[in-house]
Amino acid sequence: MAKYIGSVCKLCRREGDKLYLKGSRCLTPKCSFEKRGYAPGQHGPQAQWKRKRESDYGIQLRAKQRARRIYGVLERQFRNYYRKAARTRGLTGIRLLQELEVRLDNVVYRLGYARSRAEARQLVSHGHFLVNGRRTDVPSLQLSLGDEIGVHLVSKERAIFRALLDEAEGRTIPTWLNRDVAALTGKMVAVPNRQEIYEPINEQLIVEFYSR
Ligand code: SF4
Repeated sequence: MAKYIGSVCKLCRREGDKLYLKGSRCLTPKCSFEKRGYAPGQHGPQAQWKRKRESDYGIQLRAKQRARRIYGVLERQFRNYYRKAARTRGLTGIRLLQELEVRLDNVVYRLGYARSRAEARQLVSHGHFLVNGRRTDVPSLQLSLGDEIGVHLVSKERAIFRALLDEAEGRTIPTWLNRDVAALTGKMVAVPNRQEIYEPINEQLIVEFYSR
């Protein structure tokens, strides 16, 4: 299972925007983008002044990279999601976002049982979560309507979940999910809708990128 192991703050600086990849740290003055809001690398500070008008390709590429980085998905997997979305009925851009939304790591994050998608991915791959009563360690697992997730009985006693319990109470969840915070469970009760995906993603540009 390949994953990006570089600095995630560099990804925000590369995209020229805060992508909130580190959970609560992103809201503190420690945020790297607050201190150095220019592109990474030796020529980063100068590059922002020299930047020419971006081509259509450049704009589409940045839109695709932004979405990929927000969901923590590598290029090949992202392209596979696009291909699957293009094959299914409906608007390809929205179908793509729905494919990304129903990943197990994203659902754990949306339910408030992790502070970031990266943390959700780690908790899932360490085997702390159950899907329909069965333990799974696959963060990319696609959930379907009616699927239930929960935290393993042994894991519930861990300090990290006791701390997350308090934070989860204060997090609002999308209407396509149900949860019982006290029991650390959740259920997918509908298909994700576009209105509840607040991340700054322009799916139309992604479709244009892959349709070239
Ligand atoms: Fe991005 Fe968060 Fe790092 Fe700030 S702290 S640069 S928002 S990942």
